[in-house]
Amino acid sequence: AKKAVLGPLVGAVDQGTSSTRFLVFNSKTAELLSHHQVEIKQEFPREGWVEQDPKEILQSVYECVEKTCEKLGQLNIDISNIKAIGVSNQRETTVVWDKLTGEPLYNAVVWLDLRTQSTVEALSKRIPGNNNFVKSKTGLPISTYFSAVKLRWILDNVRQVQKAVEENRALFGTIDSWLIWSLTGGVNGGVHCTDVTNASRTMLFNIHSLEWDKELCEFFGIPMEILPNVRSSSEIYGLMKAGALEGVPISGCLGDQSAALVGQMCFLDGQAKNTYGTGCFLLCNTGRKCVFSEHGLLTTVAYKLGRDKPVFYALEGSVAIAGAVIRWLRDNLGIIKTSDEIEKLAKEAGTSYGCYFVPAFSGLYAPYWEPSARGIICGLTQFTNKCHIAFAALEAVCFQTREILDAMNRDCGIPLSHLQVDGGMTSNKILMQLQADILYIPVVKPSMPETTALGAAMAAGAAEGVGVWSLAPEDLSAVTMERFEPQINAEESEIRYSTWKKAVKKSMGWVT
Ligand code: ADP
Repeated sequence: AKKAVLGPLVGAVDQGTSSTRFLVFNSKTAELLSHHQVEIKQEFPREGWVEQDPKEILQSVYECVEKTCEKLGQLNIDISNIKAIGVSNQRETTVVWDKLTGEPLYNAVVWLDLRTQSTVEALSKRIPGNNNFVKSKTGLPISTYFSAVKLRWILDNVRQVQKAVEENRALFGTIDSWLIWSLTGGVNGGVHCTDVTNASRTMLFNIHSLEWDKELCEFFGIPMEILPNVRSSSEIYGLMKAGALEGVPISGCLGDQSAALVGQMCFLDGQAKNTYGTGCFLLCNTGRKCVFSEHGLLTTVAYKLGRDKPVFYALEGSVAIAGAVIRWLRDNLGIIKTSDEIEKLAKEAGTSYGCYFVPAFSGLYAPYWEPSARGIICGLTQFTNKCHIAFAALEAVCFQTREILDAMNRDCGIPLSHLQVDGGMTSNKILMQLQADILYIPVVKPSMPETTALGAAMAAGAAEGVGVWSLAPEDLSAVTMERFEPQINAEESEIRYSTWKKAVKKSMGWVT
């Protein structure tokens, strides 16, 4: 059969907490041509610990690339049209590997992991000068969430890592670095780099100078020689060394939330998006200005799309547990077999019947930053059943978003008129309608939900030396949207929200 002629294509690796995907887009129309997805295991070796196997993650990327290429072949699409590959990844998750063997020296410590709680407490006690030392440089509060404390823990506790550091064999990276190093050749000349967005989540990176910060590295006791080179989010880092796409440049790299911001075309000051994956992350572009929050939000690097391009910043509201609560209902309680069954249960109930579920499994992130919180389900009666709990779980995701949206509106001064959304959970229509009801503004969802991958593909396709994707806003003016309008009245919405806040108070102080 004749091969279809399409023009340049761009691939994107989307390595998330729950799964890995590889997707191929047409660079002229942003149309998604084919993709493949593999679920990733999460290990919970102890209470509060969350690990993943870096080798499994890498393997899943290779598998997704190969399978997607096969599917393209079946569609008669010539894979030699793929001109670039972008990488987007779960952020903060920390990997240390041996540059001589290419082997990870420990499991990846996942962003959700809580083992560093005492490390955080100890570090907090000896912050030099004023409390602003870390925040003013990084935009982040000291928390178990960020890579520096995870790396500190690994250096303190894993003998093999200590030894490799002494022998100058250790490399540190977030998932983007681990993947790019491995995909560009690993022990045979792999490129050890990261981009500014991922670097800004380590807590070792100065978001003003855009360099690793010597004082922070000293404070956390991190040897600077194990850190990757920091590059822009859109430039050629290296070439794929193996597989069906051998020789294709990897030329885009963005932390998943930044990638979604780009994929949703939030290029202007004040534009925002909320992504519902394992966690939930609302990012608002603040342009070239670094805005510091008074209400528990983070300041982070949004993107820098080219070596000579300016850096853009964002305010971020991070919620640790969103889709993860659905996974928990599936894997731990077994009340559903697949994530999408939650919709049917919730629909059957139509209400939480006064039940509130605060899924503070990993403490609470924004706007509280309260490590002592733990999950609670309250307001139970004889009447409560699993359908009400399912409904309460979905409502919890919406209430948490409401809290960060309120914080965002206070920090920015101009309330958002609508909320742009994406992520795995947004296929759930009940969730989307509930969200509109609880925020009391319309919720708007692009019909092509893979905005994270799209953002990474755009960065890769636009890179100098690739140049197959122009980032002009008119490119995607044809994107169709689905809208959810608020249907309950504001008063009812406020009553539910204030009861939620009461439940949140009860979730705090469970551990000391
Ligand atoms: P990540 O990027 O963090 O890996 P995804 O965007 O792939 O996450 O979304 C996966 C998450 O969404 C999982 O935690 C899953 O439980 C949840 N999820 C998937 N489908 C649904 C659904 N129909 N309703 C509610 N939650 C869902």
